[in-house]
Amino acid sequence: MSAGDTLLRRLLQRQPPKTLIAAQALSAPGVGLHIQLDAAGRVIDLAGPLRHALTRQALHAQPVLLRDYLMPHSCLSIEGTPADWLGHSLDLDFHGLGDQPLHLRGWVQPQAEGWLLQLLDIGDLLLERRQARNREQCQLLSSQISEQLRLCSLPRLPEVMAEQLRILTQRLQIPCIAVALLDDQEQGWQVHQHFSAADAPQLWHNGQRLGTGLDTLSGCTPQQLIRGEHPRLNDYFGNAEGFVVPYHDAQGVAAWLLCGFYSVQQRAPDLNHRDWLQLMAALAAPLLERLREQRHHLHLERLEALQTLLGTGWWELFSDRHELQLAPSLASDLGLDHGRLPVRDWLEQVHPADREELNARLLDLRNNSAPLLLCTRVLRADTAQSPTWYRLQGQAVGAGIHRRIIGFMLDISDIKNQQQSAAMAHARLDNLIASSPAVIYVQRYVEGALQPTFFSDSLLPLLGFSLAECNPAMLVERVHPDDRNQYFERTRQLLRQGSVQARYRMRDSRGDYHWLLDEARLLRDDLGLPVEAVGLWLDVTEATQAAEQVRQSEERYRILVEDSPAMICRYLPDLTLTFGNRPLAAYLECEPQALPGVNLGSWMSPEQREAFVSRLSQLSPEFAVSTAEINLQLPGREHAWWIWSDRGVFDDQGRLLEIQAVARDNTEVRRSQQQLTQSAKMATLGEMATGLAHEINQPLNVMRMAIVNVLKRLGNGDVQVDYLTEKLKRIDTQVQRAARVVDHMRVFGRRSEIEQQPFNPLQAIEGTLALLAEGMRGKGLELRVGETGFDVQVRGHVDQLEQVLINLMVNARDALLARREADRQFQPWIALDAERDAQHVRLWVEDNGGGIDPRLLERIFEPFFTTKPVGVGTGLGLSVSYGIVQNMGGRLSVTNSQYGARFCIELPVLPQV
Ligand code: ADP
Repeated sequence: MSAGDTLLRRLLQRQPPKTLIAAQALSAPGVGLHIQLDAAGRVIDLAGPLRHALTRQALHAQPVLLRDYLMPHSCLSIEGTPADWLGHSLDLDFHGLGDQPLHLRGWVQPQAEGWLLQLLDIGDLLLERRQARNREQCQLLSSQISEQLRLCSLPRLPEVMAEQLRILTQRLQIPCIAVALLDDQEQGWQVHQHFSAADAPQLWHNGQRLGTGLDTLSGCTPQQLIRGEHPRLNDYFGNAEGFVVPYHDAQGVAAWLLCGFYSVQQRAPDLNHRDWLQLMAALAAPLLERLREQRHHLHLERLEALQTLLGTGWWELFSDRHELQLAPSLASDLGLDHGRLPVRDWLEQVHPADREELNARLLDLRNNSAPLLLCTRVLRADTAQSPTWYRLQGQAVGAGIHRRIIGFMLDISDIKNQQQSAAMAHARLDNLIASSPAVIYVQRYVEGALQPTFFSDSLLPLLGFSLAECNPAMLVERVHPDDRNQYFERTRQLLRQGSVQARYRMRDSRGDYHWLLDEARLLRDDLGLPVEAVGLWLDVTEATQAAEQVRQSEERYRILVEDSPAMICRYLPDLTLTFGNRPLAAYLECEPQALPGVNLGSWMSPEQREAFVSRLSQLSPEFAVSTAEINLQLPGREHAWWIWSDRGVFDDQGRLLEIQAVARDNTEVRRSQQQLTQSAKMATLGEMATGLAHEINQPLNVMRMAIVNVLKRLGNGDVQVDYLTEKLKRIDTQVQRAARVVDHMRVFGRRSEIEQQPFNPLQAIEGTLALLAEGMRGKGLELRVGETGFDVQVRGHVDQLEQVLINLMVNARDALLARREADRQFQPWIALDAERDAQHVRLWVEDNGGGIDPRLLERIFEPFFTTKPVGVGTGLGLSVSYGIVQNMGGRLSVTNSQYGARFCIELPVLPQV
């Protein structure tokens, strides 16, 4: 160690030298600055090389105080005189050349009469100190920045980053600063964040793309870059001063710090390139790490969302611990409390049907690294739900202690369900085809011909041959010879039009023919060329035979109807004829073709038509048949009476579609009935002859008496007008009475009108009494006539009802007179009574003649049944009466009361209009 070194070290330790040796060494004039001072501190001499660095090198004429050589702030350390300074280390800043201070350190020691101040230059030492301090601050700043960036939450990262940039600009007085990172595609640089001082221009904005130019800088040394020496740098600082600091990671430059309007030499001379690199690393390293963390976080979130959406997730098997870890999304999907569970428990979770296989596959994967791929059902924690289908895949990765068994599970329930329902539908279809009575076939198109390539299983049971035995020629041979034309035409039409429906017979292997309904369609390829024909054969033998039978039976019925002697027709509910057979046409004296369209109603009176339509309205699917006698007024003909039977034809909803009718001409029967009624009437009239004679004699007697009296008075000449008038009036009254009787007789004797008319049945009682009352009373019979005061209408002929009443009363009279013959004391009576309700009116004729022998009760309405002597009784009275009441829609009946026979005429009442 040299003496100079020791000195320097001592100096740096700022301790005054303890030994003289040092003082001597210092006093060597080749080093530092030696100043001789007088006792008052005035400079007497300057020596040593440093004196040339002082502004005031020459000694003044008058010695000046040492403080005049010093920068003002140094003066304090030399207050007083040199004697006071002894033993102190003095740091003094002298006015140096170029106004630069000269930092010197030294101390005084006595010398002769004065003092010697020896000083050494400590400028470098101070610079280093300052640099060290600055570097320290820089390190502190770096660690603060780094800490802030590392510790902040991710959402606050941009804010914290901006804050750190702001701090940097303030501390280092950088006007514009920015951090550039690789863009999303890692192809160019992009301003991640920038900060500009308030008075600085805006050089950049966040997100600004900087291109790839920065890459060309990565070859420069950091020193070059920080000194701003690269010509391209200006591009990034708007042609102003600036520099960039790179940040390297394992892959190369990962970030740039850009500082604009800034010269390192001027503003931060104390910071070297390492300081800048450190600062940049403090910014970029945590930033990049946090951004990676953020990306990772987002990635995880996306993955999680994806897994949840797809019902998928990873799993890992820890074979050493026999445990399985499931992704959280999977665990929650399956309703598991923990994602990590013993393999045993996991297998419990798997459907029993798949458990063994999965276990075996897992072992195989664990032991032999055999890749696992299995579709399995996993039970849900909620057992009410059906198990979920998962596709399970797994593999072993890595080796040795890094070997891991990992895989994923994908929810494939939807696909599985679809597969299952498709399989079920397929099975159903197969089943349907197999069990279908139809044979489904496919014929391949080969150069204009169709060759069978497929038949469904139903071919064999139907025709007794299989596809193997089948070729086009054999098919043709099996078609019935009569139907071969249809068969060839079917193929031609299929090829021409793309679809066809045909019907022909084909022979089965037993030799029986089947009627086949053949429906086929031609399938074409994308170019429209025929590929194959798909079709089906339906065995319609039964239906065809049935249809043939129906046709034949229809033909038979048609002949039957055409040739039937009965009149047969069909007509619509509005009475329009749609068909009439030959006898009907013959009756109407026209051709059968002329009948359709004719309205039946046109042959009826309005009343008849109304009754006819109302009878049709009573038809129903349950009671589809109705028979009635109808009266027709045929043009240019007499009234015709037909017995008309209708059968209604109904649709599914029970609506009447059509009526089929069979008619029989009953006019002759009607006529003879009418004649019978007429003769019965005449017989009744004959019966009444006695009564009538009395009835007419009575007024004649009265008139004769009056005339005799008048003539007597005329003979006496004693004739007053009053007397004459009174007699003539009496005669007139009697004439009227006789005329009434005769009139009634005439009306009664007439044939009944053809058309029934509405009338009050009590009118018939009155008429009957007018004819019979006098005669009956004359024979000593009491007539008891009851309540007859109500107004009611029935339909029929009043004279016919009168005839019925006369018959009943005459029969009663005969029975009563016969009884009185035997018993003179017998008091005979006949009671006439009437009553009505909403539907019916009933007329009663009762006598006290003792009634009818119960054994004969059933027979008395038979024609020609009588108990009266031959020539007296006709046996027609009751039978004709029965027919009349029936024609009026009513009923005549008899019972034996306690007195005698009690006849009842019940008639339907016409609704009030
Ligand atoms: P007829 O009076 O010509 O015998 P009817 O047909 O009128 O023919 O009567 C048939 C029979 O019914 C009579 O012969 C008689 O025996 C019996 N008959 C009818 N009315 C009565 C009655 N009121 N009382 C007893 N018998 C009666």
